[in-house]
Amino acid sequence: MNILATENKALITLFGATGDLAKRKLYTSLFKLYQKGYLADHFALLGTSRHELSDDEFEKMVLDSIKDIPAKDGEAEAFAKHFFYCAHDVTKPEHYVKLKDRLAELDKQFGTEGNRLFYMSMAPQFFGTIAINLKKQGLITDKGYNRLVIEKPFGRDFDSAKKLNDELSQTFEENQIFRIDHYLGKEMVQNIQALRFGNPIIEALWNNRYIDNIQVTLSEKLGVEERAGYYDKSGALRDMLQNHIMQVVAQLAMEEPVAFTDDDVRVEKIKALRSLRVYTPSEAAANFVRGQYDAGNGTNAYRNEDGVDPESGTETFVAAKLMFDNYRWSGVPFYVRTGKKLADKFTRIDVVFKKPLIDIFANPDAKNQNLASNVLTIYVEPKSGFALQLNAKHVGQGYTTEPVDLQFLQSDSAKKESPEPYERLFHDALEGNHTNFASWAEIAYAWKFVDVIRNLWDIEKPSFPNYVPGSMGPAAADELLARDGRKWVYRLNR
Ligand code: NAD
Repeated sequence: MNILATENKALITLFGATGDLAKRKLYTSLFKLYQKGYLADHFALLGTSRHELSDDEFEKMVLDSIKDIPAKDGEAEAFAKHFFYCAHDVTKPEHYVKLKDRLAELDKQFGTEGNRLFYMSMAPQFFGTIAINLKKQGLITDKGYNRLVIEKPFGRDFDSAKKLNDELSQTFEENQIFRIDHYLGKEMVQNIQALRFGNPIIEALWNNRYIDNIQVTLSEKLGVEERAGYYDKSGALRDMLQNHIMQVVAQLAMEEPVAFTDDDVRVEKIKALRSLRVYTPSEAAANFVRGQYDAGNGTNAYRNEDGVDPESGTETFVAAKLMFDNYRWSGVPFYVRTGKKLADKFTRIDVVFKKPLIDIFANPDAKNQNLASNVLTIYVEPKSGFALQLNAKHVGQGYTTEPVDLQFLQSDSAKKESPEPYERLFHDALEGNHTNFASWAEIAYAWKFVDVIRNLWDIEKPSFPNYVPGSMGPAAADELLARDGRKWVYRLNR
């Protein structure tokens, strides 16, 4: 299908314009939107950071960031002409006056009609200060829109997240805030809703009558690399579970929205997270597992990585069992896990269906004849698609059954055409569509769930390290399921 792109008129102010994220993801995403016509003549970006740069130097930096993207003659240069720079220390209120004047000029020059999108791509301790100063120093316009796009992390716990949200709320209404969770920009995460609500044969079975358990795995092969300083203060629970995993789980657990609009989807995700059981400390201890990688398979132990405290108690792996107390999911565990230095890099969701109440094929004289569970696997990355495991008759004499797979995988060319998460999310923010952003209520419920175990882990000394690189985490993560008579669908042969 050929969808005609409409131009978005917008003046973007980017805080953290010389940072890693801006250079690796943001300029490339904006360039792709420009190539597709979603941005054209009426847009400009004012980059800011503490560095002193001229407009020309900034333009060169932007050109360097997009140099690997195939483009028509002169296209990159024409794009870069929309970029301007203003050195600015976000902690100095008087600096905002310079920004304000520059924005007023650019608005006129590019005809952006007062539409302002402020993007905070900086260390989170500055988010609140920037938001407050934007209003105090008069950078918010009264014609067009004012929108705030904000990077993760959104707080370190419920209290700090609430403080940040209160600060943002002094300047922006909830419907003006776009909290980035790049997992929500992934093709197959967005596909969960099409798969569920576009297919009655799936949605009809999407409940505790037919589903035995749901498993979500975000597995990373890499260690902490250059992010050790940040990661050692964060850990897997805050870095991956509180945000990405909770957002994926909310999409799996939510009820069907009245319509596929951002407001309707939000309402249902919030309702789902409201029914997530918040554990008591002893329940949390029983339903969470933490791990930290040891040395092995040619790599250092986490504690010996550069920038990591040699006695660090930070978890590089977390697994948990989540329960929803609502009519649809009562009794169905959602098992989740994520970690660094695991066997491979992939994200997948396994929906394990219940076995038939009576297995008419069971034959006590033959081994391995029990029916396998039907499993719907959603491959998020690196492969994108889904597979449905069914039971079929084994070809040949006699009557034995065996599991077979129906599989759909997106082709390499389809994957290539699919926009990167940041491109999608930038476009959504420009269009004012909240569907793929986390609301404050969702974040608040996620923190309340996570804070119980964090508080416990912060006072109890872990026995780390407890897993070898190249494995799927500590043995306790397997025991979490084994104690319920279950197994991870994806596991290594041990
Ligand atoms: P970075 O450290 O590379 O860049 C920070 C930017 O902020 C720089 O431009 C710096 O000059 C500017 N800055 C710092 N102090 C300032 C001040 N007082 N006044 C004005 N400017 C100041 O950080 P990054 O990796 O680009 O990350 C930015 C944000 O994006 C963070 O919230 C991070 O958590 C989030 N994020 C980054 C990545 C990534 O891949 N880099 C991925 C996900 C989320």
